Amino acid sequence: MPKVTIDDSLSISLPETLLTELSLGRGAQLDAEIDDKGRIILSKVTPTMARSLPNLSESIRSRNLSTGMQFIKGVGPKMAEAFERLGIRTVEEALYLIPLRYEDRRELRPVARLRPGRTEVFEAVVVSATTSSTRGGRSQYEVIVGDETGTVSLKWFNFNTLWMKKAWHPGRRGIFTGEVNQFGHRREIHHPEVEWIAADDDIEAVMARDPATYGRIVPVYHLSEGLHQKAMRHIMKQVVDSFAGDVESHINEEILTRHHLIPLSEALREAHFPSPEADILQINSGSTAAHHSLVFDEFFYLELGLALKRRGFTLEEGIAFEVNHKYTKPLLKLLPFTLTHAQRRVLSELKEDMMAPFPMHRLIQGDVGSGKTLVALMAALVAVENGYQVAIMAPTEILAEQHFLNIHGWCDALGVKTVLLTSSQKGKERAVLLEQVGDGTAQIVIGTHAVIQEKVEFHRLGLGIIDEQHRFGVLQRGILKRKGENPDILVMTATPIPRTLAMTVFGDLSLSVIDELPPGRTPVETKVYAESRRKQVYGLIRDEVNSGRQAYIICPLVEESEKSELKAAAQVAEELQTGVFPEFRVGLLHGRLRPEEKEAVMASFKANEIHILVATTVIEVGIDVPNATVMVVEHAERFGLSQLHQLRGRVGRGSHQSHCLLIASERLSDDGVKRLRVMEGTTDGFRIAEADLEIRGPGDFLGTRQAGLPEFRVASILRDGRILEEARREAFTLIERDPELKLPEHSRLKGEMVKRWGGRLELAGVA
Ligand code: ADP
Ligand code: MG
Repeated sequence: MPKVTIDDSLSISLPETLLTELSLGRGAQLDAEIDDKGRIILSKVTPTMARSLPNLSESIRSRNLSTGMQFIKGVGPKMAEAFERLGIRTVEEALYLIPLRYEDRRELRPVARLRPGRTEVFEAVVVSATTSSTRGGRSQYEVIVGDETGTVSLKWFNFNTLWMKKAWHPGRRGIFTGEVNQFGHRREIHHPEVEWIAADDDIEAVMARDPATYGRIVPVYHLSEGLHQKAMRHIMKQVVDSFAGDVESHINEEILTRHHLIPLSEALREAHFPSPEADILQINSGSTAAHHSLVFDEFFYLELGLALKRRGFTLEEGIAFEVNHKYTKPLLKLLPFTLTHAQRRVLSELKEDMMAPFPMHRLIQGDVGSGKTLVALMAALVAVENGYQVAIMAPTEILAEQHFLNIHGWCDALGVKTVLLTSSQKGKERAVLLEQVGDGTAQIVIGTHAVIQEKVEFHRLGLGIIDEQHRFGVLQRGILKRKGENPDILVMTATPIPRTLAMTVFGDLSLSVIDELPPGRTPVETKVYAESRRKQVYGLIRDEVNSGRQAYIICPLVEESEKSELKAAAQVAEELQTGVFPEFRVGLLHGRLRPEEKEAVMASFKANEIHILVATTVIEVGIDVPNATVMVVEHAERFGLSQLHQLRGRVGRGSHQSHCLLIASERLSDDGVKRLRVMEGTTDGFRIAEADLEIRGPGDFLGTRQAGLPEFRVASILRDGRILEEARREAFTLIERDPELKLPEHSRLKGEMVKRWGGRLELAGVA
């Protein structure tokens, strides 16, 4: 058999003899594929066929990358399982397990110059080894090692004495690695790594044998049971050395150059085993060219999919509403105020979408009290003017009721029929409502998720409005959509979602921001109180109620559980009524009350028959009682900042100065206090949301884990917001130019995008 060679660029040179044998001249068009037995199959092809067939180097690369981890030297079945626990089956998946952090092991240091707080590498000889007890009575194994400059103590708290005695005998020489701690004048290293140097060996040789561990910046990986850093490093070194070269970027050259991105293969090598001249601080903060390139790549495909989704909406046929002002103009006349600039701007964005012949998918973001509901009502009236029905969906019954109360007042005056639909309505009442929805008598239907239940059929749904979207999944958006014939969809959120997060969660929606509050509001004064200063809090409540105002007191739980020290709302209400404020009326509102009871409580509070309302977080969103000026939050440390901001938004709605008092546990850590103090410093919902996101991370921030929120392999939406914006801009521009990714130069890009999105990309004509 003549020998076939593959050069660096993965092209194959066929020897003359083979060419003759195949009766091929030089430069003949050949196509090659690898079959499932690993054989290369060659065939003669015409130029047109050649373009549509996969190319050899690409199939080799992709085959290489799908190599299972068990084929890596040193990975047995046990370890392959450990990798699986990390979600890693193939070498490609391993390549994207980017280190958590890095240790600088470039130089060996003399023992005297070991720096506290750092992971250091040094050569030393064992001086003594003993078992002793810590002051707490735990047993510890202590070894003193040293060189000509000094000594340092090594300690273990979990150890096998026999095993330790065998290894650690005086005179033995080794290379030690570990984080240096300083206790007074003593320096200690706990559970160090060691590489022994045999008597006839020298240190250079030992270090050279393990280039993954010594003389370099060393990666530290996320592990699972059955994996250790050292083994992990060796395996990753092999994977990177053998397979990183097979990873190729499919993003256009032009974009790569514009953003100074390095090839993915090089970026992966650098990210795992940084080159010797790298800056350790830069690497550890994820701000190197390598990280940038990997993150950009990841975001780019995400945004490409979102851009296509968004573009898909504009390809669907939708309702082209006409703005004839039949109801909108009269409503503006009825209002005791004029719209803010921001409201007007957002309203014109909405109208433009609604008039277009494809369905609207728009998100309105606005801080609490910015007047979103009114803008939504205007949009609803445009739909009604055109003979269509509108569905308004809220996450809780109380909020739906609140919307209903607010909206149906205006609508009655205009002669527009609104109904409230919740899951607590039963029997005859429900049947009548469903009939009104079905025959179109009900023009605006307000409710909870009851609105999208199977039995509910609309006569002619033209607009779906979803309030507080992040509590619903993306799924509900889809169901609501199918209740009509491609109705317009408007999503409202009062939680100011940081831009970067919004771009990933709501990336396929157009965004409108109401960034202005109606005039005449005085910012709420916020203060954190320690438990011990509760009297002052009560004093303030008393003053306010005496001058005619009202107060909310929010408690985290409904009933006191034995284990919990949390104040229970019911108990708090009872105590306040009898012990603290016998002269006022104290009310109670919590999630376990029946809807009629809740309604009755809210109505009395609105009428100022209840002066102090003790509540659980059911009132978090949407409740609007302008006369309430005090918001007290018990156990404020238990709440997310964004949630506190929502609660605070319940006051400061009228012209009187309002107060938000956050009562915090005495035992709160400094960090916890610092977190709450963010609330004192700003009333800007976006800044609070950013701080919250930073503290809690995106999964937590959104409450439940959002269906469809992508998991990133390398990127962090906190750290890499700027790169996300760059990637988004490029992706959206590209889709504008080539809306279905049909250009031949985008075929590989499209393939890669479909692969990365898996089944999540339901796109007509793309997947
Ligand atoms: P959001 O839903 O954004 O929290 P709302 O729509 O509930 O805000 O509005 C809060 C309060 O402000 C309501 O009482 C509403 O009637 C009032 N409001 C809305 N727009 C204006 C405006 N332009 N000027 C004055 N008050 C307004
Ligand atoms: Mg609202």
